[in-house]
Order: sequence, then C-alpha cells, then structure tokens
Amino acid sequence: MDAATCLKKLGYVGTLAFATVDESGNPQVRNVSAIHYEEDSLYFYTAQGKNFCKELKATKKVQILGLTMYKEMIRLSGDVIYLEGEESIKWRDVIFNEQPYLENVYPGDTKDIGAIFMIKDAEIEYFNLSVYPIFRESYTIGDGRITPKGFEITDSCISCGKCKQGCPQKAIDAGTPYHIRQENCLHCGRCEVNCPVQAIIKR
Ligand code: SF4
Ligand code: SF4
Repeated sequence: MDAATCLKKLGYVGTLAFATVDESGNPQVRNVSAIHYEEDSLYFYTAQGKNFCKELKATKKVQILGLTMYKEMIRLSGDVIYLEGEESIKWRDVIFNEQPYLENVYPGDTKDIGAIFMIKDAEIEYFNLSVYPIFRESYTIGDGRITPKGFEITDSCISCGKCKQGCPQKAIDAGTPYHIRQENCLHCGRCEVNCPVQAIIKR
C-alpha cells in the first residue's frame, strides 16, 4: 500500500465525508463527490456561499474519510489551498467533465459561483479491518507529516506477558521489553489498562 494507491481507492469509493470545524469550534461533516484525483494531490469543488467553503478558507484544513467495500478505512488529513483565476477554472472544468451530474446542479455559467480547493500536503491513514490481524499504515503526500498514535512499551516492562495474552489482535511480541507491532494495533488501549506496572504509554 502507498499514498497513490490510497488516493485511487478513495476515487473508487466516490463520495467521501469531508470534516471541518466551524467558527464556534463545532465539528461539521458533509459528503462530497465533486473530486478529481492526481497521483499525489486532489482537487474538489464546492460553492462560495456554503459554510463549508467559509470553514475551509478560515481553517485551511480538512479531514476526508472513505470506507471501501473491503472494509478499508482511508483517512486523509490535509491543508487546503484555495485556487483562483485560470487555475481554478482549469480544475473546475476537469471535475465537471469527469462528473456530468454536476452540470445539472450548476448548469451553464452558474458554475462560476464555485470554489476549487487543492490538497497537496497531507497525511493518509490506511486501516484494513477485513484481515486478521488488522493492518494499518500511514503515508504522506507533499509536506504532510505522520502523527504518532497508539501505544508503545517502555523499559519499565517486567515481561509478565499480560498485555500479549489480552490483546484482541495478538499484536504484541514477547521480549525485553515486550513490543507492539504498530501495523497490527487497533489502538484500543486494553494493554495499557491491564499492565501491572504502567509500562505502556501513549505514543
Ligand atoms: S503487561 Fe506490562 S509488564 Fe507485562 S509484558 Fe506487557 S508491558 Fe510488560
Ligand atoms: S492497543 Fe489494543 S490492539 Fe494495540 S497492542 Fe494494545 S491491546 Fe493490542
């Protein structure tokens, strides 16, 4: 798996959830399908009057979530760039050509009220729930950065084995100290709660 494949898979899903934060700090989420994918970036269309557009311009951030038919969760957290002028028209026309239904929504020159945003710097999380153990990995595009998540075992570990026995995904290997295979970890926290010497910490 890699970032380009994740973008391709998001394209196959088609309609994705886009999350922003409004001016009151409340989460806002909506479905968007007016999206064009390049190998290492994506472009999407909305309308100038929508709160979505306002929130994107204010925060310059978005989180996008898709679930494939194979139970693969793909989450992209990125910076958005508002495009203007000829570049905006170019990508708007690409999106409208790829998705003809948009011409019904914004016929003729009414599409001029649109706003085009680009994402080229992002973190992409891939999380496959259809295999055992589960598989997860993170990638970046552009200057995106990977946010450490989950848990790790410190040198305080006394090798009692309790975490390994209780892990729902058998994602812990014995050793000194014991070791969590990050690519197989659910981030459920069961090992942290059950460790008798608090040797497991958040990453
Ligand atoms: S439960 Fe804690 S002390 Fe026991 S093996 Fe796991 S990390 Fe080490
Ligand atoms: S967080 Fe959950 S899945 Fe991950 S190692 Fe601990 S118990 Fe296993």
